[in-house]
Formats: sequence, structure tokens, C-alpha cells
Amino acid sequence: MVGGLYPRLEGRQGSQKEELRKESSRHEVQPMEMSGVQDMKDLGGIANRLVSLDWSKKTGKVENLKEKLIGQVQEVNRLRSELGGTDLEKHRDLLMVENERLRQDMKRCEAELQELRARPPPCSECEHSKESAQLREKLAQLQLETEENKSRLAELDLEVHQKTDRLAEVELRLKDSLAEKAEEEERLSRRLRDSQETIATLKAQPQPIKYIIKTVEVDSSKTKQALCETEARNQYLQEQVGMQRQVLKEMEQQLQNSQHTTTQLKAQIMMYESELERAHGQMLEEMQTMEEDKNRAIEEAFARAQVEMKAVHENLAGVRTNLLTLQPALRTLTNDYNGLKRQVRDFPLLLQEALKSAKAEIGQAIEEVNNTNRELLRKYRRELQLRKKCHNELVRLKGNIRVIGRVRPITKEDGDGSEAANAVTFDSDDDAVIHLLHKGKSVSFELDKVFPPHATQQDVFQEVQALITSCIDGYNVCIFAYGQTGAGKTYTMEGTVENPGINQRALQLLFSEVQEKSSDWEYTITVSVAEIYNEALRDLLGKEPQEKLEIKLCPDGSGQLYVPGLTEFKVQSVEDINRVFEFGHTNRTTEYTNLNEHSSRSHALLIITVRGTDYSTGLRTTGKLNLVDLAGSERVGKSGAEGSRLREAQYINKSLSALGDVISALRSRQGHVPFRNSKLTYLLQDSLSGDSKTLMLVQVSPVEKNTSETLCSLKFAERVRSVELGPGSRRAELMSWSSQEHLEFEGSLVQTPSSARSYSSSSSGTPISRSSSIRRKLQTSGKMKPVPV
Ligand code: ADP
Ligand code: MG
Repeated sequence: MVGGLYPRLEGRQGSQKEELRKESSRHEVQPMEMSGVQDMKDLGGIANRLVSLDWSKKTGKVENLKEKLIGQVQEVNRLRSELGGTDLEKHRDLLMVENERLRQDMKRCEAELQELRARPPPCSECEHSKESAQLREKLAQLQLETEENKSRLAELDLEVHQKTDRLAEVELRLKDSLAEKAEEEERLSRRLRDSQETIATLKAQPQPIKYIIKTVEVDSSKTKQALCETEARNQYLQEQVGMQRQVLKEMEQQLQNSQHTTTQLKAQIMMYESELERAHGQMLEEMQTMEEDKNRAIEEAFARAQVEMKAVHENLAGVRTNLLTLQPALRTLTNDYNGLKRQVRDFPLLLQEALKSAKAEIGQAIEEVNNTNRELLRKYRRELQLRKKCHNELVRLKGNIRVIGRVRPITKEDGDGSEAANAVTFDSDDDAVIHLLHKGKSVSFELDKVFPPHATQQDVFQEVQALITSCIDGYNVCIFAYGQTGAGKTYTMEGTVENPGINQRALQLLFSEVQEKSSDWEYTITVSVAEIYNEALRDLLGKEPQEKLEIKLCPDGSGQLYVPGLTEFKVQSVEDINRVFEFGHTNRTTEYTNLNEHSSRSHALLIITVRGTDYSTGLRTTGKLNLVDLAGSERVGKSGAEGSRLREAQYINKSLSALGDVISALRSRQGHVPFRNSKLTYLLQDSLSGDSKTLMLVQVSPVEKNTSETLCSLKFAERVRSVELGPGSRRAELMSWSSQEHLEFEGSLVQTPSSARSYSSSSSGTPISRSSSIRRKLQTSGKMKPVPV
């Protein structure tokens, strides 16, 4: 508003100046126009000159005053622009903005402070402590800003002071200039009055002068007008000055306001500062607590570290002592190491030497071992021969033919009552003796061994297994099961699935033995299953089991027998055996409607051949194991059988008699052995003669109703066992046995127990014990001579 005033003023001042200039020029021209009037010219000219002189002086003064005034105004303007009402406003605005900013900062600070207060006390390593640190940083920043603001405020204060001073100065100068102006005005008005007085005096003068006076009056009115104008202008200027003063006052007011605001701001700043100080104090406190915590933590850590340090020191001391003790060890180790190094360096040489000597030693050792081996082999062969010889001798001493009795247990089939009562007892001191109660009398028999009813399959097998293994050494072996039907022959030979008999156990044993010797020997085991029924030989493993087979002499002139067409199965495992038995059994079942009956009337043969080759010597051996389940020995004649049944009985009797004859002949070392008398003995000729071994298993029933048959069987057994007593008696006895036992079974002759007893004890007159029997064998063995038939 003030700024807008000055151009107007200047414009007006410019136009006034122009008017004044025009006015003066008009005054200057006018006297020249009046120079034509001669009379008046001189007076008028004088007055004119006076007036113009006075006027020009006044005008120059006014001009001077004007110029001064303009200068003053310009000065005021300059000062104003310098001071700048606008600058003040700007300052005020700036201060207000600053104030506003500070207020906002303050608010923010307060908010943050409150937030800070609301927060839980800082802990050393959590997020809050970080935030607190950030806040502290911010606080420091704010403090810095406050400091800056303060300094700026101080600067502004200074500036305001300076400006106020300058304003005062300007005012002073303005006052001076106003005073001057007033003085000038005063002077001007005085001169004006003087002029008016002069004019009045001039008016009072004569006519010519009147003109001049008129002119002067005219001029004077003009001057008056100019004066009025000047006064008006002065008035205006005064108004302007008043206005300026007003503005100045306003500005002063504003300045005061600003100062007030500044004071307020200062107060606020003070408050902020106190707040800040308080926050700073709090912060310091927190920092103090934190510092304390830190110190405490440091102290604790220090204490811990000291403890650890102590432990480490102790360890170190221990390590040092260890080190001290280890040093000698290290020295020894170093020496050892050096020694070892030397050894390693020398090792290849030593190794070579050692290898050389070792090779030589090994060669020598091998040579020695070879020699020893050769020697051992030689000894082994000699031992083998010796063993065989000894074995033969032992068998000869024990008798090539052994007779063992087995009593089966009483079964349900035996029924109840007196008939099923037990009639057999044993000697607790001698397992070779059996007592039979027959028709109220006790008859005792002595065999090589007697198995009571409770004897197991394994017990029986245990007894016979030596015979079976001798088959691997190339011996021929025959095991017969003899006895009446139902006495347990098949049970002993075949057994049951759960409790197998000699057949299966023998094969298993052969397998395991062969396996054991497999490193030195190669063995093959073959099996044939045959039966002899009504003196006809049939192959039970053949494709046509009903076909009768012939027994023939080998065409090579060796005197050996063979059966053309008899099937031989090579067996390698228990499974193979089972298959073979099953096959034989199936053949037998399909062939005969009543197998039980049929099997009791035929001889069943399992022929096992073991062929071996010694790897080292190339020696070949062949051993035959004949396991025979004989037909029932009961005397069919008693029941008055006829037709086929009678013929069957005759065949059975014939073959069993022939077997008895052959065994008797063999035991009594007779020159002629009647093998050809039956198919059975003829087939088993090889296995019964020479070094062969025979075992007769006599099966008996224990019950009362079977005592007659049991008696017959036991008598047969004892006779077979006792036939070697002497050539003369042997022959006589053999004849007697043959005729009594097997040629008379159709008749009524039944040997009495007393006769059996007398027969068995005839050589010594007293009951024979097993040991005495062996002793007797030893005594008589050297004297035995074959008796020609
Ligand atoms: P065999 O063949 O002499 O005619 P078995 O062997 O068929 O007689 O035997 C007749 C019955 O007696 C069969 O049921 C058999 O199981 C049973 N038996 C025979 N001996 C024994 C024994 N030692 N233990 C158990 N039972 C036996
Ligand atoms: Mg049977």
C-alpha cells in the first residue's frame, strides 16, 4: 500500500514540476511582450525587474526546497525500500513460518517424548535401546536445530535492532527536514507577506505604477495561486508524511508484534529447552542405568573371564608340565622315528634278503612237507590196510553175523484181556538176555543184544550204523528183519514219516559220511528196490514191476552176480530217497489189492550201492548195503491154509530155511554155502559171503497170544547166533535146525522152551552170558575149519 503511494506521489510531483516550469517560462516571456510601451516601459521595467528579481530568487528557493523535499522523499523512499515494509513483513512471515515450524517440531518432540515415556526402560541389547539411541540422535539433531534457530533469531534480533536504529535515524532526519521545511515555509510566507506589503506600497504609488502594480497584482495572484498550490502540495506532503508516520507506526506495531512473537517464541524455545533438558536428563539417567548395566555386565564378564583365565592358566600349567614330561618322550620318539626311518630306508634291502631267505626256507619247507606228505600217505595207506585188517579181525571175532532182538510195544491191535498180557521180560544186568513166559514157563534166550519195547528207532540205528558206514569202505552188508507178521519188521526197517526206520537213516548217514570224505573221495550212491514173492524177483522201481527178473553170473568170469533189468537210481539227497521210496511204494500198491497181506508174504529189498574213488590213489571201492524186510515167519500150516495161501507159505518157508542154512553155513565156515536154494540167498550171495557182514534183527511181539511164534523166532535167532560151536555139531545142529524149524512148519512139531534152552546151553552146559560167548569165540576162532557139505 505504501509502495503504491510513491509512484502516485512521484507522478504528481513530476506534473507539478512541469507546471511550475511552464509557469516560470510564461513569466519570463511576458516582460518581453510588454517592452513596446515606452513610458511605462521604464517604470514597469524597473518594477518588473525588481519583481522578477525577487520572484526568480523566490522561485529558485522554492525550487531548492522542492528539490530538497524530493530528495527527502527519495531518501525516505530509499530508506523505506531499504528498511522495507515488505522486508519487515517478510521477516514477520518468516518468523511466523519459523514459529510454526518450531511449534510442529515441538509437537513432534512432545509426541516422541511421550512415546519415550510410555516405553519400558531400555534394555541393553533389545530393539528399544536401538530406538532410544535413534531418539537420542534425533534429540541431538533437534537441539542442534534449536541452537541454529536461536542463533538465527539472535541475528534477526540484531538486524531488527539495526533497522530500528536506522529507522529512528531516518525519523530524526525526517523531523529535521520537516523542521527545515516548516522554517522555509515560514520564511516563504514571511517573504510573501513582505511581497504583499511591497505590492501594497507599490499600489499606493502613481498611475504608471498602477499598471505595474496591477501586473504585480496579477503576478501576485498568480504567485498566490502558485503558493496555494505549493501549500496544497505541502499539505499533501504533510499528509503523506502523516501517512508515512502512520505506516511507520504500523510497522512499529508490527515490529512490536514481531518482538512479542519473538519473545513468545523465545519463551517456547525456553520451554522446549527445558523439556529437552528434561528429556536429556532422562536420557542421561537411562544412559546412566545403561552404563551401570553395561558396567555390571562388563564386571560379570570380567569376573567370568578371570575365572576362565584362571582355569586356562591352570590348564596351561598342566600342559606345561605335560610338555615337560613329554619332551623326553618326544626325544625318544624322535630317536625311534629316526631309527624307523633308517629301517625304512634299509627295508627294501632287508626285505629282499628276507624274501630270498624266506623263499629258500619255504622251498625247503615245501620239500619237507612234500616228503612228510609222502611219508604220511604211505603211513596212511598202511594204516588203512591195518585198520581194515583189524576191522576184519574184530568182525571175525565178533562174528560176521550178529543177531539182535527187538520187542515191540503192546499196541491197541493186541486187544485186551489175558491174550494181550505181556509175556516178555528182560535182564536188568544184561541187555542181551530176554525171558519169555510161555505156557507158564520162563524161557531165557541170549542174543547179541535185545532192544526192549521202549527202545527208539535211533537206539536201534545206533547199534547198526557201524555196519552201514563200513559199506563206504567197500564192505557188503546185509540187514534182515525177521519175525512173525505184526512183530514190527516194517516199523524197524521203514518206520513212519515222523520216525523213520533204518532204511532212511542209513541213507542219510551215508550221505553225510560221503560228504565228509568228499575232499579225498568221490562217491556215487545208487538205489534199487525189489521184492521176492513166491520165489520171483520183481523190480519195484522198473517200468514193469510185474516182470520177473533173473539173477545171472557176470559174463566177465569174475563169478559176480547181477540182475539184468534191475533199475538203479542215483540218489544225492534225502528228497531223492523219499522220491524213490514213494515210487516203489506206489508200484507195490497198484500191483496188489491187499498190500498189507502181500507185504507180509514177500521179502522187500532195498539195495544201496556205494561206489567210491580215492582222488589221490585212484583206488576204487564198491560196497553194497542190503536192507531186507522179510516175509512173516509165522507157521501158516497151523491154520490149515490151502491153495495159493499154502503155496505162498511154502515159498516163504523155503526161502527163510534157505537163509537159515546159508547163515549157518557161513558161520560154521563151511566150504559149501547153499546160496542157490532160494532167490533171496542167491541174490544176496555177494553180500553174505567173504568179508561181508550180516545183521539179523529178530522182531518179536510181547503179548501172551503170540508167545508160540515169539518162541520160534527167538529159537531161530539163538540158533543162527550159535551155529559156530564146532564143525561136527554145527553140521548136526544145522540139519536138526533145518528139519525142525522150517521143514516141519506144516506139521505139529513145535520146539519146546526146554529143548531150546538145552540146545543153546549144549556146548557149555550152563546158560551163556554175552561176555562168555565172546570169550569162547576168541578161543575157538583159531581152530575153525571149513566143513565140506
Ligand atoms: P510187521 O512188518 O512185522 O508185520 P509192523 O512193522 O507192520 O509189523 O508192525 C505192526 C504194528 O506194530 C504196526 O502198527 C507198528 O506201527 C507197530 N509197531 C511195531 N513195532 C513198534 C515199535 N517199536 N514201536 C511202536 N510201534 C510199533
Ligand atoms: Mg511188514
